Amino acid sequence: MALHRERPTRILILDLDAHCGGGTYSLVRDIPGVVQADISVCRTDFYQPDPDSRSTLDVIARAEDYLPTVSKQLDALADDPFDLLICNAGMDPHEDSAIGGLAGITTAVIAERERLVFGWARRHRVGVAFTLAGGYTGARLDQARLVDLHRLTIQAAATPSANLADGLR
Ligand SMILES: [Zn+2]
Repeated sequence: MALHRERPTRILILDLDAHCGGGTYSLVRDIPGVVQADISVCRTDFYQPDPDSRSTLDVIARAEDYLPTVSKQLDALADDPFDLLICNAGMDPHEDSAIGGLAGITTAVIAERERLVFGWARRHRVGVAFTLAGGYTGARLDQARLVDLHRLTIQAAATPSANLADGLR
């Protein structure tokens, strides 16, 4: 408890929705202890994070850069003692999403993304709150498949020991 009184609560917002999180950033940018790591695949709601902050925005153009960027940004923040991770688990980067989708971001890529995020949180003992976000049904993504994508987040959140062991190897 004393620790919490001596420093502000540290919150990491990890925004993995396809679109940039400029609205969220405008709300939290002046709150001490809040960092936003934003990995988007399109420039809608683009913003420039304060260079004096640890917040970042990556706009990914090639699917092969997606998971390495998620890993890189999480690793860059690993020395920061966050109290809470709030993950915007958007499904609209998926290649079949009617809005936002980036070719090459497959279901397997999204599944690995969720394992990376929750594995990181467990290794660093950071509690996670997440939102089921993004994901637009259309000709290539019906509602049942979209629900299956959202289930990947819930699965990763609810699979403690296996992911933890993976991360520690
Ligand atoms: Zn979106």
